Amino acid sequence: MTNMITLRVDPKYTMDLNRGYSLILKDAIQNKELLESEGELIRLVDQHNRYIGTGYYGHQNKGIGWILTTKEHELIDQAFFTKKVKVALSHREDFYQNSQTTAFRVFNGEGDGIGGLAIDYFDGYYMVSWYSEGIYSFKEYIYKALNELVEYKAIYEKKRFDTKGQYIDQDDFVMGTEGDFPIIVKENGMNFAVDLNDGAMTGIFLDQRDVRRAIRDHYAKDMNMLNTFSYTGAFSVAAALGGATKTTSVDLAKRSLAKTIEQFSVNGIDYEAQDIKVMDVFHYFKYAEKHDLKFDLVVLDPPSFARTKKATFSTAKDYPKLLADTIAITEKNGVIVASTNNASFYEKI
Ligand code: SAH
Repeated sequence: MTNMITLRVDPKYTMDLNRGYSLILKDAIQNKELLESEGELIRLVDQHNRYIGTGYYGHQNKGIGWILTTKEHELIDQAFFTKKVKVALSHREDFYQNSQTTAFRVFNGEGDGIGGLAIDYFDGYYMVSWYSEGIYSFKEYIYKALNELVEYKAIYEKKRFDTKGQYIDQDDFVMGTEGDFPIIVKENGMNFAVDLNDGAMTGIFLDQRDVRRAIRDHYAKDMNMLNTFSYTGAFSVAAALGGATKTTSVDLAKRSLAKTIEQFSVNGIDYEAQDIKVMDVFHYFKYAEKHDLKFDLVVLDPPSFARTKKATFSTAKDYPKLLADTIAITEKNGVIVASTNNASFYEKI
């Protein structure tokens, strides 16, 4: 293959890469200066020039790319991408057959062999998330693969790679027939209103599916539930459907009020019997203490990082305080469901 750049891996990192770790960390490469433009293919070798793997150049968090194959002579071409998508689809066959769940992830980044790419399914619509300029340069391959392998109403995409790795705001429609959003998808029998062309978020985070089900089926019955950082209130819906006596949803974004009312309504839940607060969670803790409010079940699902007018919140730094504040308003023998999407977060609290 022409134009392939050979990069030398620092000995400290070769073992991980040889064992199947596929993120190419910035610090792992000794001759980074050879890299020119995102999307170019790179060949990794160790100190003795022994082949490690072939990947692509693309900035994503602490990485500068992903290994795509460890077979030296495998071509990174249309057939390669089509095969990866096809295998991923076959692993989700049970979901496609399940009438109670019509929204799920069909392609999960490096887990399915292509770091930097995720594809979600929402009842006939596909949403492709691109996590770097580099992976985005392969888009024709991925869209061709989808066109070959699945039927769809439409495809939408999220470019999640501005300078800070954030979503680039644009019209996200790619091809097909545009949806009339919100559409209602199902997850384990629960309904969720979803909009695939309204900014970075869709209305539901699919990776919390099992948590929502566990809350509904095992933790909510007869409980007074508090949902912090509630966004559209998906956890509150699960709790209400699971028999919670009441739910309280707290999020400071103004849009969360209408969105939460909508999620309750599409599930036939009377939203007026629930509490929805547009408020900073940390103010809500003070409010709850002042009014002697206590909860049996509390969900914590903060963003990794958030900035409000008055303060910044980061999970790495502030989770212990968040937990302490939560414990103060949780009933004895109550349950706290604590979640984070910060991948570098360990049990250090
Ligand atoms: N738990 C939600 C997802 C949370 S997304 C779900 O299951 O769908 C993170 C949310 O935190 C966003 O909606 C954002 O508006 C909110 N948020 C960020 N900082 C906040 C703060 N200090 N107080 C309340 N909400 C906050």
